[in-house]
Amino acid sequence: LRVQNKLEAVIDKHMRSIDAAKVSLSSITTEQLWKQSGRFSANSELFRLNDRRKSGFLLSPTHEEEITEIVGGAIKSYKDLPVRLYQVTRKYRDERRPRGGLLRGKEFLMKDLYTFDYSQKDALKTYKAVRQAYTNIFNELKIDYIVADADSGNMGGKLSHEYHYIHPNGEDKLWSCDSCTYVANEELAEHKIEGKKDWKYRMVLEGVSTDHSTRIELHISVPSPENYTKDDYGKLINEHAVKKVAENLGIDFATGLNYSTLQEALKKATRTVKIYDGALPEAASQAASGDITQIQDGDGCPKCSEGKLHSVPGIEVGHTFHLGTRYSEPLNAVVATEDNNSKVPVQMGCHGIGVSRLIGAAAACLHDSKGLNWPRAIAPFEAIIVPTPDIPEADIHQVYDKLQSAGIDVVLDDRADKGVGWKLKDADLIGYPVIMVLGRGWKDAKTVEIQCRRLGFKKEVNAETFTSEVEELLEQL
Ligand SMILES: [Zn+2]
Repeated sequence: LRVQNKLEAVIDKHMRSIDAAKVSLSSITTEQLWKQSGRFSANSELFRLNDRRKSGFLLSPTHEEEITEIVGGAIKSYKDLPVRLYQVTRKYRDERRPRGGLLRGKEFLMKDLYTFDYSQKDALKTYKAVRQAYTNIFNELKIDYIVADADSGNMGGKLSHEYHYIHPNGEDKLWSCDSCTYVANEELAEHKIEGKKDWKYRMVLEGVSTDHSTRIELHISVPSPENYTKDDYGKLINEHAVKKVAENLGIDFATGLNYSTLQEALKKATRTVKIYDGALPEAASQAASGDITQIQDGDGCPKCSEGKLHSVPGIEVGHTFHLGTRYSEPLNAVVATEDNNSKVPVQMGCHGIGVSRLIGAAAACLHDSKGLNWPRAIAPFEAIIVPTPDIPEADIHQVYDKLQSAGIDVVLDDRADKGVGWKLKDADLIGYPVIMVLGRGWKDAKTVEIQCRRLGFKKEVNAETFTSEVEELLEQL
């Protein structure tokens, strides 16, 4: 809980820097609002419940609907804007595959900021300010992160960025250029198709719409025919890209089907639609075409001439979205215009940080064989004092008080029933950034042993300088 509270304090500080006010919305919301926004039926991850009158309620997985309703009822004029509200509250999602403890759970803690602006221009200014605040938050945590261009999925809007920690446990696949700064989520990543234009061998693969009424033919080219069979579907086809092309045709493309399920579904199809890969010459003349092939390691970067793309696994810990009028329009959050002649829906943004997930991700990224390694900003305590049993209590408190008055968040391990060896192992396991041992050095020469596992630091330091030595170490963590 101390880690969580410290993370929340870092977030609070940077939310205040962009004039966002903290609120707390209810965990329970009505089905009605979600029906109004159009997100009720499409979302299978909702926890639904009924009250005694059989009215439908939800455990909120997020609060766009609720906050748009509240703010929409409170603002009248363009003069009431901008409004920036955020909260750090528990959210609920009936995850199909909860995993990794805090990384993906049915209940989680999230920071969600909602922004309301009069014009798109103002909203983009807000978006920029939020991005800067996010940069400041993630820099302060001192864990390496990358920012990816992202698809905004069913959130609407176009402008969106994801913040990821790189870790093998990450469920997100990011494509990153080895030459320029291009990084994109798998769903949005593009690759150069120029080279592929010389490929003369064709393959036709099959897909189907979710209602099984439409067979979807996917036309692509491959460098040579003997390298591939139709079983290589997953290696060849980028389903996110196909889904997008199909969406423009008004077709809901069924993703993730295995071969036999697909063959079964195709029996019911009554029509066929063809989609061409952008690298094919026919693509130019066909209405249905796009960059529908899977990106391969080493493919050309879409942004620069030299770079090659490589995939990295990421844990998504933050996300910024420009929503536009996706929610303000259906939920009627409008303001009077400057000339007072009409009303326009407000421009919104929503910006999340997965608080509980970030804690799990930080633990995953920084631990070693001995235990956790918290960065200073969110460590439960910045330093721990472990005294041997023969050190007088007055001396221990002298050291403790000195650190406290230097502004260091310190804890004393005074458990009487545990030995020093056990305590040191426990301190390593919990992952305090700095460990201080009061033992033989103190008795002989009033020195403190300072340990910092992450920096490989271990040294006896005299009583005059140990606080500044600890402070110096902490600044690096
Ligand atoms: Zn590049």
